[in-house]
Amino acid sequence: MEHAALIFVIQDHLDDLCTLSQVLQAGGYRVLIASDGESAFEKLANVVPDLILVDRAIAASPGVEICQMLTRNVNTLDIPVLLLMAPDDVNEQGLPAEVVDVITKPYHPNTVLNRIKLHLQLRSLNLTLQAQHQQLSQEITARRLIEADLQKLNNNLETHIHERTETLHQALHRLKEQDEELRYKAYHDDLTGLHNRNGLIQYLDQCLAHQQPKTVFFLDLDRFKRINDRFGYGVGDILLQGVAERLQSFIGTNAIVGRLGGDEFLVVTDVQPHHGKAIAQQLIEHLRFPFQLMQGSLQIGTCIGIIPDTLSYRNATEILRDADIALHQAKRIGTNIIMPLTPQMQEAAMARITLEDDIRAGIEQDQFMLHYQPLISLKSRQIIGFEALIRWNHPTRGFIPPSQFIPLAEETGLIQALDFWVLKAVARQWHAWQYQGIDLNTITINVNLATIHFQQRDFLRQLDTLLSHINVPPRALKLEITESLFLDSSSLTLYALEHLTRKGYFLCIDDFGTGYSSLSRLHTFPIQGLKIDRSFVSAMSEDSSAIVQTIIALAHHLNLNVVAEGIETAEQGDQLQRLGCDVGQGFWFARPLPPAIATQHLSTNDPLRMCS
Ligand code: C2E
Ligand code: CA
Ligand code: CA
Repeated sequence: MEHAALIFVIQDHLDDLCTLSQVLQAGGYRVLIASDGESAFEKLANVVPDLILVDRAIAASPGVEICQMLTRNVNTLDIPVLLLMAPDDVNEQGLPAEVVDVITKPYHPNTVLNRIKLHLQLRSLNLTLQAQHQQLSQEITARRLIEADLQKLNNNLETHIHERTETLHQALHRLKEQDEELRYKAYHDDLTGLHNRNGLIQYLDQCLAHQQPKTVFFLDLDRFKRINDRFGYGVGDILLQGVAERLQSFIGTNAIVGRLGGDEFLVVTDVQPHHGKAIAQQLIEHLRFPFQLMQGSLQIGTCIGIIPDTLSYRNATEILRDADIALHQAKRIGTNIIMPLTPQMQEAAMARITLEDDIRAGIEQDQFMLHYQPLISLKSRQIIGFEALIRWNHPTRGFIPPSQFIPLAEETGLIQALDFWVLKAVARQWHAWQYQGIDLNTITINVNLATIHFQQRDFLRQLDTLLSHINVPPRALKLEITESLFLDSSSLTLYALEHLTRKGYFLCIDDFGTGYSSLSRLHTFPIQGLKIDRSFVSAMSEDSSAIVQTIIALAHHLNLNVVAEGIETAEQGDQLQRLGCDVGQGFWFARPLPPAIATQHLSTNDPLRMCS
């Protein structure tokens, strides 16, 4: 239950006090009294009244003073103070500032209660207002704090966004720069700053798209590889840069110069086709002037292929292909040669390309087969082995002899696939013979290996793998290599040959005498036999066989087995036998035979052509 309001009456006039107390109590209030200021403040230390009535005319201390003290005291300053006074005093002195109201004597109960009620209500309202005010100010303070925080966050966010945007801008800028650099690099040559292949192709394609005719010069430096080998890549690079500078200074800004790679340069000009040769000549002269390098002065020659007019081409790749054909032709002839492309060159090149594609398809579609030419012991005239020779039965062009596709296969690198195919086919044949119960103990098979294989780094490993897979005993395989292998015999080649010998394969030099390996160097090669070239055999006559004789003698001296190739007559066979040649091969004994016929000879083991 709510307490009745407590009214504190400070009054020293007993009658008034009684009256007032009665009135107040009758009005439902609790009453506390004090007769002077001192006792009043003592009580106020323990009690908080709701309203204070102070008589103005207290003898000990004037009421107004008490009022002042009340308003100064923290405990009471909020409590409404009403002054009790005589009506005359009011008129005379007015209302002191410290009081909220006065009650005049004599006390009319209604007036007193109404006033008190009014001021209690006012106070209550005041208190509510104060509380609300306090709450509001708290809310406002809190809100201000939040706002300040928000502002701070906002500021931070803005700074952050600003920084991020800046970083992003920088990153974007860097990306753009890198992009440009990459684009530049994609179309330019690092070494010379000229256009590279991509750049040239792009440029030529653009010219074609705009139907701008161009005359194209394809340059290749002579002997550049040797300069690289002799002086090192550093010097080679400086030379290439020098060439690039000269070409550019000669051509000026009207044309495009590019490097296709290595020592190949392309110059694309607006020169009239009929002036092409003259300009090419000037280019050669311009480059022929010696280059001054640290190592001394270097003079270089140049070959140039010309495409006089590019308009008939569909794309840049075709232009480059034909420029290459013309250049190739020039290089075949010699140094400082100029060669404009002719339709015949184009045709020949196209034919070669077709042939190349055909060889590839031929390998895939098994169009090749082997023929086996018997190797005959000249003493017993028995077959001691065969040379496997490749044959191509082209589906539309019919039989194509090896001389027509082996050189191209060597040039294009397809020879490896072919020779490996031969080794596998030989192995199949070997196993077939084994399966047929043919005695193979004394039989060997000769397989030709192109020399360019040995220049390939990985060749020996691949050959090793293949040989270990085909499962033919090493002693049964004789590998024929030509003398040209020893011309430039690197330690890699020698290592490969020694490796194969160690593994038990028999190595022999094919076409001996036609190459460059002099007789005096024969002892340095890790080989076990040689085949005297057909040209020496056919040149032999009754009284002139000196060369063949020397070769046989020397070979035997070195413990090498000797085969004579291309024996076409009985006389040649007999003469070679007399000269001590071990083995013979040639049409006189047998042509290269299809497998079935070779098998027949093997199984019957009849001597082939006894001594005449
Ligand atoms: P080669 O290695 O010197 O092979 C001997 C060539 O002489 C064969 O020609 C053979 O048919 C021919 N021949 C044999 N006896 C006589 C004869 O008494 N008189 C005449 N006039 N010729 C005779 P073929 O089969 O046309 O091969 C030509 C060349 O192609 C081979 O010469 C060889 O260098 C190459 N070749 C053949 N098959 C292969 C192969 O599988 N791989 C490699 N890399 N080259 C091969
Ligand atoms: Ca051969
Ligand atoms: Ca030969």
